[in-house]
Amino acid sequence: MARIQSVRGMNDILPEDSKQWQYLEDVVRRLLGRYGYQEIRFPILEQTELFKRSIGEVTDIVEKEMYTFDDRNGDSLTLRPEGTASCVRACEQNGLLHNQQQRLWYAGPMFRHERPQKGRLRQFHQIGVETFGMTGPDIDAELIALTARLWKELGIADALTLELNSIGSSESRRRYKAALLEYLSGFKDELDEDSLRRLDTNPLRILDSKNPRTQELLVQAPVLSDYLDEVSRQHFDGLCARLDTVGISYKINTRLVRGLDYYGLTVFEWTTEKLGAQGTVCAGGRYDGLVEQLGGKATPAVGFAMGIERLVLLLDTLNALPAAIGQADIYIVAMGEAAELAGLKLAEDIREAVPHLRVQSHCGGGSFKSQFKKADKSGARLAIVIGEDEIAKGEVAVKPLRDAQAQQQMVALSDVVNLLKND
Ligand code: ATP
Ligand code: MG
Repeated sequence: MARIQSVRGMNDILPEDSKQWQYLEDVVRRLLGRYGYQEIRFPILEQTELFKRSIGEVTDIVEKEMYTFDDRNGDSLTLRPEGTASCVRACEQNGLLHNQQQRLWYAGPMFRHERPQKGRLRQFHQIGVETFGMTGPDIDAELIALTARLWKELGIADALTLELNSIGSSESRRRYKAALLEYLSGFKDELDEDSLRRLDTNPLRILDSKNPRTQELLVQAPVLSDYLDEVSRQHFDGLCARLDTVGISYKINTRLVRGLDYYGLTVFEWTTEKLGAQGTVCAGGRYDGLVEQLGGKATPAVGFAMGIERLVLLLDTLNALPAAIGQADIYIVAMGEAAELAGLKLAEDIREAVPHLRVQSHCGGGSFKSQFKKADKSGARLAIVIGEDEIAKGEVAVKPLRDAQAQQQMVALSDVVNLLKND
């Protein structure tokens, strides 16, 4: 019978990879804690209406990328394509936004029916951060400082560029859209099908077009920053000044827009040239209108999401992953029944007394040779070898596996724990 395969664009994350994911997730989680952010978890499935109303009907995501289906009751449900909408829904529903500020983060899978390729999957994973109740630009700057520190601590800062823009208040955008529309209407016969469609529905998205001819046309187009009103301008200047204060460099990209309708004022992306076409590893911005749009009280909000697959790929490409993540420290080799029992007891004693050591016991018997092969593969630094002779003398052999100069030594069984404690 034919083997059943996974769904296209939805990958298994095997132990070799999950080690790297865990390393990244641990670093991010610790950093978020240091900035005072708390985790929120919400379902993977939501009412379809939630995403339509927030992301916007005329966006790539809602038009063609959502996994939407009717459940057995006939309700239209959607696998979340992103986290912001769900996060707002969860906060509203549970009263987290009532007269309070929130600094939140979440992590997990997102689903978009895109064409799978390097750095672009149908089930991908994000770590997202959302803040509520702060009008900024102080909090905007905090979020960007947090990401900048993350790249530094991961050792990948040199490979990343911060692109920054303000897409202004909805009034600024309305005036700019009219100007852009007027300009682009003169080139209708040169626009591709996507851009033509967006001309009527969402002209700002044309700025984001990957089509080289469209990008050429845009060189002469009106520039969004010329249409910002005073409040929007002040917000943006305030953010830039704060980034200057903490020494974070940025590139202002007046064509940077986001593919989701709820953004206004600040938008930013961290991009790299090391990953080919899928170079954005983190993207976010301000969305002061979204809470109200979803039925809550008007609440200022700003957040971002980073793509875990792309970040792991980048860490790997730059050789920025620590060499020995998740490897054993000690491998216990035991031959014969009495030795195996002594090994079992010793492993538990070590785990009890020296909790930071990762101890792997050999299970399943076999010759010394085959056990040593496994010890070697485990990455362990030391093997503790217990044979019938050793047991009779109340001793074990402690054998360094990684250091060719170091000698094997015989240690009394009762001294092993102490030896490792002081190691
Ligand atoms: P892109 O322009 O690359 O399509 P996007 O604007 O659709 O990205 P967001 O919705 O802002 O992306 O998501 C934030 C981050 O999540 C992206 O910067 C990227 O790192 C990651 N991401 C988005 N879509 C995918 C995907 N299909 N596969 C893998 N990672 C993704
Ligand atoms: Mg996209």
